[in-house]
Amino acid sequence: MLPAHHTLLSAIIQNGLLVLKWADNHESRFHAIWLRHQCWCSECGTPETGVRSIRLAQFDENMSFGEIALTEEGLSVTWPDENHTSVYSARWLRNHCYSEPERQKRCVNPVLWDGALSANLPIGSLTEAEADPSARLHILEAVRDHGFCKIIDAPTDPAEASRMINLVGTQRQTHFGTYTLKKKEKRHQRWRYNRPTGSACRRTVPLRRYRNHSVSSAAPKLEWWCLNTG
Ligand SMILES: [Zn+2]
Repeated sequence: MLPAHHTLLSAIIQNGLLVLKWADNHESRFHAIWLRHQCWCSECGTPETGVRSIRLAQFDENMSFGEIALTEEGLSVTWPDENHTSVYSARWLRNHCYSEPERQKRCVNPVLWDGALSANLPIGSLTEAEADPSARLHILEAVRDHGFCKIIDAPTDPAEASRMINLVGTQRQTHFGTYTLKKKEKRHQRWRYNRPTGSACRRTVPLRRYRNHSVSSAAPKLEWWCLNTG
């Protein structure tokens, strides 16, 4: 059974807007053109292929809703002047509600670092994250809010270094490869690249500020550092 905030009670058209009422008493309002453009059916284009056949500019900004109906999954909308029906899940609709309170709830508030941080580091456990999705979410939320998360229970065996990476995404393939284990090159007083995105490396000296190759690449990413503190 869906939670109250994902349970749709009714859908009506009011003053040209789609008004959805939810079991937690929230009300969502959607404009027709916005919802039409969000159709991700195979004809309009899906995230699976990343190909879109519709553009926002092709729709009349004053377009209206046709028939709407609650379905088992959520809501279906048939668009006038088009032989097209869009289906939206209740969960998706609520997660994309653009009312001010809902936008505020989804708004990220980064935690600024200060002297108190060292006594209250965000910490997550790898073994717990592997067993429990909520523990994995805790780690990702810590990264979102603090910019980092200290992972405990991490393996010291390089062969297992990708365990954490596998929990959250795909390890990036680069022209350097995907993973290497390098110690600091003392002779040159620099150390080799750790690998961008989902990378892991080991070094034996304290970390200093360092700008490496991965910073130069634009893709959003997480970096994993394997630190042997023993
Ligand atoms: Zn569509």
